[in-house]
Amino acid sequence: MSEILILVEGLEGLPDKKTLELFRAGTELARDLEAEVSAVVVGEKIADLAAAAAGYGLKKVYQLEHPLLKGFQPEAWVGALEWLCREIKPRILLISHSFIGKEVAPRLAFRLQTELTTDCLGLGVDPQDGLMIRTKPIYGGNAIATLKGAGSPQMATIRKNIYEPLEAGGPASEIVALAPPLEESALRVKSLKTVPEEVVELDKANMVISGGRGIAEKEDFELLEALARALGKTHGKVLIGCSRPVVDKCWLSSDRQVGLTGSIIAPDAYLAIGISGAIQHLVGMIRSKKIIAINTDAGCNMFKVADYGVVEDYKELLPALVKKLEE
Ligand SMILES: Cc1cc2nc3c(=O)[nH]c(=O)nc-3n(C[C@H](O)[C@H](O)[C@H](O)COP(=O)(O)OP(=O)(O)OC[C@H]3O[C@@H](n4cnc5c(N)ncnc54)[C@H](O)[C@@H]3O)c2cc1C
Repeated sequence: MSEILILVEGLEGLPDKKTLELFRAGTELARDLEAEVSAVVVGEKIADLAAAAAGYGLKKVYQLEHPLLKGFQPEAWVGALEWLCREIKPRILLISHSFIGKEVAPRLAFRLQTELTTDCLGLGVDPQDGLMIRTKPIYGGNAIATLKGAGSPQMATIRKNIYEPLEAGGPASEIVALAPPLEESALRVKSLKTVPEEVVELDKANMVISGGRGIAEKEDFELLEALARALGKTHGKVLIGCSRPVVDKCWLSSDRQVGLTGSIIAPDAYLAIGISGAIQHLVGMIRSKKIIAINTDAGCNMFKVADYGVVEDYKELLPALVKKLEE
C-alpha cells in the first residue's frame, strides 16, 4: 500500500498544532487514495516526540535520530529526510509551510528531483489519475491556482490554520527507530545557537482588534489598546492586529499583520478599524466567527463581510465605546 509521509514539528515533546493539521490533511488524502499515513520525527533525543506522535492512529512513526540532527540543522535534516525517502519511497510528502518547512522542502525536492508546491491552501485527489491536487494563491492572492505533478514523492508545504488539527486516538503507531548515515563533512551550514523570539501569536487570541491605514497616527493605536483592555476583562485574550500598511509604516511588528502575507486567523470576534477589506486582508480573517467593522466609508468592502458595522470616525467612536464598556 502506498504511504503518505508527514514531517513532524514539535513543541516540548509534543507534535505542534500545525503538525496535527497535516495529520488531518494526510488522513483525508489517504481516504481517497487507500493509502497509509505515517509521520517522521527528526532530531536528537526525540523518543518523547515520537511516542506522542504515535498517539494519532497513523500507521508508522519513523524516528530519525543522530547527534548531527540536534536542534535544527537544515542540511542535516535534508540529508536525513532524503535518505528516508529513498529507503521507503513515500507516494506523498507533506511539510508545514513553517520556518523549518521553508528551509527543508525546496532543498529536499531538488535532491529528490521532484516537484514541490509551496504554501498550499488545500489538497485533494484527481479521481482520473490519483494524483494529489494542490491549491495555492497566486498573483498576490487575487487568484487560486490548481496544480498537480507526477514526481515521486508528490510534495507540498501547507499553510497553517487551514485544516482542523487531528484529535489523538486510534491504534498506536509502530515506531521505527532509524539512524540515518550522516557525515559532518557534508554539512556546510551550522546553527550555532537558537534564540527564542517573542512572537505575538494572533491565532491564540479570542478576539483580535485590528487597525488599518485609516488610523491617522501611531499614537491612536492607544485607543485600540484601551478597547482591548476593556474587552479583555470579559472576553478572554484580546490582541491587537493590523493590515499591511501599518507594518509598512513600522508602527507595529510584522507578527501582528493579518492576511495573505501575515497571519491567517479565526478568532471568536474580529474588529476591523479603518481597514477597507482588500482581498489580501480578507483571506486572513474571513473565517472569524463574528466580524465587526468600523469605517467612515459605508461602501467599503469590509462592510460586505461584516456581521456588524458602524459608519463612524474611530476617533469619535472608540473613546465612547471604552467609556460604555467600563461603566
Ligand atoms: C502580494 C500582496 C500581499 C499582501 N498581503 C497583505 C496582507 O497580508 N495583509 C494586508 O492587510 N494587506 C496585504 N496586502 C495589501 C492589500 O492589498 C491592501 O493594500 C491593504 O490590505 C490595505 O490596507 P487598509 O485596508 O488598512 O488600507 P486602505 O485600503 O487604504 O483602507 C483604509 C480604510 O480606512 C478607512 N478610514 C479612513 N479614515 C478613517 C477613520 N477616521 N475612521 C474609520 N475609518 C477610516 C477608509 O475609509 C478605508 O476604508 C497585500 C498586497 C499584495 C500585493
